[in-house]
Amino acid sequence: MAGLYIHIPYCHSKCAYCDFYSMPQADTMPRYIEALVAEALLRKDEVAQPFKTIYIGGGTPSLLGAGTLARLLDRLSGVFEFSAVDEVTVEVNPEDVTPVFLQTLKRAGVNRISMGVQSFNDGELRAVGRRHTGSQAFDAALAIKESFDNYSLDLIFGLPGQTLGSLGSTIERMLELEAPHLSAYLLSYELGTRLYAALMAGKFEEVSDELAYDMYIYVHDTLCRAGYRHYEISNYAKPGRESRHNSSYWDSVPYLGLGVSAHSFDGDTRRFNRANLKEYLSAIESGRAYCTTDPENDENKFNDYIITRLRTARGLDMTDLAGRPFGYLAPQVEKPLHELVSSGALIVGDSGNLVIPHTRWLTSDAVIRELIL
Ligand code: SF4
Repeated sequence: MAGLYIHIPYCHSKCAYCDFYSMPQADTMPRYIEALVAEALLRKDEVAQPFKTIYIGGGTPSLLGAGTLARLLDRLSGVFEFSAVDEVTVEVNPEDVTPVFLQTLKRAGVNRISMGVQSFNDGELRAVGRRHTGSQAFDAALAIKESFDNYSLDLIFGLPGQTLGSLGSTIERMLELEAPHLSAYLLSYELGTRLYAALMAGKFEEVSDELAYDMYIYVHDTLCRAGYRHYEISNYAKPGRESRHNSSYWDSVPYLGLGVSAHSFDGDTRRFNRANLKEYLSAIESGRAYCTTDPENDENKFNDYIITRLRTARGLDMTDLAGRPFGYLAPQVEKPLHELVSSGALIVGDSGNLVIPHTRWLTSDAVIRELIL
């Protein structure tokens, strides 16, 4: 089984912290929709397995409107076989959510919504350039809850000016909404963003490492007490409500990514569309796929495997690794593996796999780096 990802690169405006490839709403949108369908036709045989999940992400897909998204899904169903699909997710922003919008998506076969809330505190939202208020996000989440039984809300912690108390208020409101799935990310300052420039200019102070860690532990403990399972570094789900689409990335399931800057994996080779809308449109409109093959040797594949597995609660299954075509490389990390286990940076989980204890997930990059070839 495989996944289909569709990237929508447009946003109402640019959030201060965002370094994704996205741009303001533009007159290229109609051409872009045509290009997605044309790209689907060009690449329809690239992934052999039937699709099990569809994910429309961005950017801000909801900016296209529900009618356009429904028509896009309908046209893609004429290109691909969708009969095995059981999860169709659309990312939305609070300012686009209305009952009519949600009902139209539902009729089009969408059965999961993912919404960026980030915080319910208006000052924190303004500090990172989000367009919505906390109460708008809460009302939008209530509307989603009325229409969909499967949905996810995103939050960011470590926001400028955020305290443990204000984070606690946001989490309390999140829990009132009883979302089956929550994602929680530590704010990162990416070079080239407005937020990074403001930080460098001394306009505000970054939360300290200690506070960031306390926030992370607070989120983990509170959500786990509320019945969520922390199944991936940034993701929490009620039992059985893990994101199937995103889980397939961590499980090396093949996926086809359509649209500018989208990535694909056919089970062996990784490909990506470069992040250049003008070039993407011109290539597809001339009947050429725009993807570039990521030349991966066994070491790259080994590293990808280690990185994706150690980001999850399932962890690293050494027997499974040994059976992979690149498994012959495993002896090269035997020594650091032993050292990480001795120091407690890796532990043996319930399933017998090696896992990073949740208390160290926030700094998991340092653990993973030790195992990278
Ligand atoms: S809505 Fe999402 S993709 Fe768009 S600018 Fe904000 S963070 Fe970036």
